Amino acid sequence: ARLVIAIDGPSGSGKSSVSKEVARRFGLAYLDTGAMYRAVTWWCLESGVDLADADAVVRATREVPLEMGTDPDQEQITVAGEDVRAAIRGDLVTENVSAVSTTVPAREVLVRMQQDVIRDSGYRIVAEGRDITTVVAPDADVRILLTASEAARLARRGKQLGAAASSNLEAQVVGRDAKDSTVVNFTSAQDGVQLLDSSELTMEQTVQGVIDLVIR
Ligand code: C5P
Repeated sequence: ARLVIAIDGPSGSGKSSVSKEVARRFGLAYLDTGAMYRAVTWWCLESGVDLADADAVVRATREVPLEMGTDPDQEQITVAGEDVRAAIRGDLVTENVSAVSTTVPAREVLVRMQQDVIRDSGYRIVAEGRDITTVVAPDADVRILLTASEAARLARRGKQLGAAASSNLEAQVVGRDAKDSTVVNFTSAQDGVQLLDSSELTMEQTVQGVIDLVIR
């Protein structure tokens, strides 16, 4: 039977690790839509596309030779055959990704690609991002907004990055959230979207919280 689980949340809410684990537990595919915005950004930087030129960004988004895997146990993201899993997590991409995510026609292209991935999964997938519950899959079987306090999100990002954590981590996280909120609004969950606050929860407790929402 179909089971589409849509999970949205800001950076540092823990949504990637949680979504991946939920996919494993239910035997579902997994789609990280943030990785797609990152991959397009990487491609623009790599191929010399001017990120300030919206038309060029849209063209690049239409033409990007992007391949996204959906196995929660084996991340696969290639652009023109090149493995970009590590590169798309770098500071350069993180600092520039809003050029893609704030360009509306580029979003439309990516949303359609994401809907194709969901269809190709046979509608058995956990998809996570910023606009999955509202735009990409408003018809999902379960829609969850994963939140966390700013303090909790900063602490997680810092831990995730470890020694590589930049000194301006706070500016990065808060600044990116501010930019993201110009395109996606998290302040009030839409009708039918269930809120799950992970600030005081461990990763395992958050996974269990999502599972409870799915099976009830
Ligand atoms: O989740 P992650 O931090 O990898 O997302 C990277 C960026 O991609 C976000 O900061 C946001 O600008 C953009 N994004 C988006 N819509 C999504 C997923 C990510 O705009 N569904």
